[in-house]
Amino acid sequence: MDPNQMKWNEEIAKEIIRNLEKRRMEGSYAPSAEQAREEILSMIPKGASVFRCGSMTTVGMNLWENISNLPEVTLIDPYEPGISAEEGFERRRRGFLADVMIASSNAITLDGRLVNLDGMGNRVAAMIFGPRKVILVVGMNKVVHSLESATERVKHYAGPVNAIRLNLKTPCVKTGLCSDCRSPQRICNMWSIIEGHMIEGRIHVILVGQNLGY
Ligand code: SF4
Repeated sequence: MDPNQMKWNEEIAKEIIRNLEKRRMEGSYAPSAEQAREEILSMIPKGASVFRCGSMTTVGMNLWENISNLPEVTLIDPYEPGISAEEGFERRRRGFLADVMIASSNAITLDGRLVNLDGMGNRVAAMIFGPRKVILVVGMNKVVHSLESATERVKHYAGPVNAIRLNLKTPCVKTGLCSDCRSPQRICNMWSIIEGHMIEGRIHVILVGQNLGY
């Protein structure tokens, strides 16, 4: 990576981590996706159940294959190929009781706020309450200056790109722009802004010095 970009990533990550800690959350910085993956694997206790949440960030990291190979770890995977929609739904419900949840965040502000938008809500709900530990892997491409720029990013970039990925019947798939549709397949239904947590350290954000996910 370009050394100037690397330096920016490191300095901005330090600032965000300081701000996460003020909000009773944890943060760390991994320069690469490989280093982030090794950190995540080291954070999963023996015998833990791990809830996989929808995240393109983690798909490119070869993370899930590694987790499913960990001894005595149970992966709750609603995205396992071949399972029925009902089974996927049940696994999302079971995920609320997992020891560890792993996801990304649609945006993170410089002052340490996590901004997300869900179609069904299971991901944002479990981030807020349920799993004992929440690990969020966030590429530095998702860092934004303010809450306003976070909602702009999520609404006008992450939403349409994810709709295109899922090949939905929504206007943004044709135009690339959000028109605040009322489509039955709308994926922009539940917002969450996490400002902090009463359980210190429950949420751990791993910032990664690469462009990952949307
Ligand atoms: S609200 Fe509708 S048009 Fe806008 S990004 Fe979401 S799915 Fe696309």
